[in-house]
Amino acid sequence: MRLVLFGPPGAGKGTQAARLVEKFGLLHLSTGDMLRSAVAAGTPTGLAAKEIMARGDLVPDDVVVKIIEDRISQKDADKGFVLDGFPRTVAQAQSLDAMLAAKHLKLDAVIEFEVDAGKHVDRIVKRAEEASRAGQPVRKDDDPQVFKTRLAAYHEQTAPVSAYYRRKGLLKLIDGMDSIDAVAQSVDKALQHRAHA
Ligand code: ADP
Repeated sequence: MRLVLFGPPGAGKGTQAARLVEKFGLLHLSTGDMLRSAVAAGTPTGLAAKEIMARGDLVPDDVVVKIIEDRISQKDADKGFVLDGFPRTVAQAQSLDAMLAAKHLKLDAVIEFEVDAGKHVDRIVKRAEEASRAGQPVRKDDDPQVFKTRLAAYHEQTAPVSAYYRRKGLLKLIDGMDSIDAVAQSVDKALQHRAHA
């Protein structure tokens, strides 16, 4: 099974991706995690991405497309994968289609996490405050100002990807504001109606 989890930053995609990985034995491909590893390791990609990520802007398409292309060409990706944070632009979605088509593969579903715009920002701010109070590391880009830039990038560059997949008949909308368990149930239900079930 090959899935895309789609939705604004902080919508809970990572949490649900982890559950899908456990349940279906899929590979979790988070471009955010891969870029953060590259930054930590100080690779050329990491050096190029560091400032852009700290500002909350999107890393150039060719950089992330190359990361995903390399990763899904490895043998363990044959078991299927869940993409989290990719594609984030229509150009990335088109590149993904082309790379899958070249391997005679298709996506099974794109699950979009819908959020309430007002409540969503509060939820992220609270999450950062709680993590900080508990002495846990807070992601630099969870700073409220940077988070606003991430949300703006989402609305301007990423939101159009939703219509792209709707036209392809792959889009499943779920309510991302529910509890973790309720969202998990919505995801399972959406997968029962996926294109290649
Ligand atoms: P979130 O979904 O919580 O915003 P991610 O961990 O997915 O965070 O991504 C963190 C940052 O990494 C983004 O703000 C962006 O700078 C960069 N990034 C991740 N994935 C992509 C992508 N597909 N295209 C461009 N930039 C990306």
